Amino acid sequence: MSIQWPKTNDAIGAVNRGDAAESGLCTLCTAACKGKCETWLSSMIGRKLLYPRDFGTITSGSRNTTHLGISYNSLRIQGYNYGAKGLPNGLSDSADDCIFPNVNIGGEFGREIKTKYSIPIMTGALGSTFIAAKYWDSFAIGASLVGFPIVVGENVVGIDKKAELKDGKITKAPELDRRIDTFLKYYDGNGAIIVQLNVEDTRNGVAEYVIDKYGDKVVIELKWGQGAKDIGGEIQVTSLDYALFLKERGYVVDPDPTKPEIQEAFKHGAIKSFARHSRLGYTNLSSTDKVKEDFMKSVDYLRKLGYKRISLKTGSYGMEALAMSIKYATEAKLDLLTIDGSGGGTGMSPWNMMETWGVPSIYLHAKAYEYAKMLADKGEDVVDMAFAGGLAREDHIFKALALGAPFTKLVCMGRSVMIPGFVGSNIEGVLHPDRREKLNGNWDELPKTVSGLGKDADDIFAGYYDVKKKVGTKEIEKIPYGAIAVWTLCDKLAAGLQQLLAGARKFDVDQISREDLFSANRDTEKETGIPFITDVADDNAKKILKG
Ligand code: SF4
Repeated sequence: MSIQWPKTNDAIGAVNRGDAAESGLCTLCTAACKGKCETWLSSMIGRKLLYPRDFGTITSGSRNTTHLGISYNSLRIQGYNYGAKGLPNGLSDSADDCIFPNVNIGGEFGREIKTKYSIPIMTGALGSTFIAAKYWDSFAIGASLVGFPIVVGENVVGIDKKAELKDGKITKAPELDRRIDTFLKYYDGNGAIIVQLNVEDTRNGVAEYVIDKYGDKVVIELKWGQGAKDIGGEIQVTSLDYALFLKERGYVVDPDPTKPEIQEAFKHGAIKSFARHSRLGYTNLSSTDKVKEDFMKSVDYLRKLGYKRISLKTGSYGMEALAMSIKYATEAKLDLLTIDGSGGGTGMSPWNMMETWGVPSIYLHAKAYEYAKMLADKGEDVVDMAFAGGLAREDHIFKALALGAPFTKLVCMGRSVMIPGFVGSNIEGVLHPDRREKLNGNWDELPKTVSGLGKDADDIFAGYYDVKKKVGTKEIEKIPYGAIAVWTLCDKLAAGLQQLLAGARKFDVDQISREDLFSANRDTEKETGIPFITDVADDNAKKILKG
């Protein structure tokens, strides 16, 4: 059965530009979009979008009364009519203290060195894909101001024409420097900059370069895979010279730009672009034991280089790889393991691969919990985990954290936290045409979906004055509107998450548990181990009735 996710949400006034994916985002999200899905609107309107529109003149009702199939949308969130758990210090259990704005959603992950965050989200890996480079300032400054981890994905150095390599190792990496420095400029102790290593990055000496230049300000991430594809990262280039440069740098470039017949076809316009691919990892290893040995050696090497914080990102491979990632990351005492379900991405993963390969998020995450618990029951100190794959809203954050509790610390959001970067850059490009090219703004004028909200940054973005308060009157002039939009979206996610937690009577996000969920159909119950709605606390209910 194929489920059609709704494209319109009349209650909050949101409409998807294209087909909707499980996340609620379009299957194709374009940086030029003039609106207006929930995430796009939230990037300007912020927490007001938690509520139906036109208060005072409407009534509204949920359409979520049927839950078909197995997905995060077939989990529902618990609420209780008494009690309060996890009250932060200084708060009593009085109704005056137990209000949703008092719910703590900040936390930390890691082993010896704890990495703090103010909201339990992180970005997906934003690597060599051009859209990541174009809107990086918005993403990185937004993440830094809000205080959540951002990931520099693979191949950033390899495709940088200005990067210099000597004897195959990097000596200069301006784009990677820009990515790291932009985040660090506003970093105030919350969040982190994480740099990924794939096969090519390892060969190029990214780890050695980063530790020499930035020390342990950076978290280094080993990369096994992602949800979008099970081949390495890809980009598309439209210049023959650039394709030849990438081939020279050692990448797989398809079609091969060194072949005369391909060059001829390109000159005649029959071939318009080239795809640059990465390599697969561990191709020379034939058993899990050998992979483990190699992985442990890599971790040791990174530690010897001086890295204090190391993470692993794995994709939606099958159960064996999932178990390997949890067990090896735990034994290696890593700081974080990100588990990415199929199937969205930020780059150019082959479409039918995204549609058909790998383990969808909810199945993968449910098994991740089961395997983590097996280790915990044996007394192992299980690695902190982040769940990723098709998660965009505050209810998704709640559900993913609860499904993997107590092992999940963060929810990794790829496409959704990029949308405010696009929206803000497009608006800034119209209001300040001199900045448009640098910002990669796509609009000539404000669409009605924006001009109806205001005419300048301070009346368009609900979060503008909060950011101004944080950075000061002078510095606000330097903050990209895309970063203000990231702040505004996160404010909505934060308030929504606080409300859901307060309803579940959890006043600290670290109190979230699997008991805070129930399955809305029997198939989801079977796959996740989360009991069906009316089975949860049914025994208690009957005791009350018999009492
Ligand atoms: S911002 Fe992206 S996901 Fe949202 S409506 Fe536009 S294209 Fe769709």
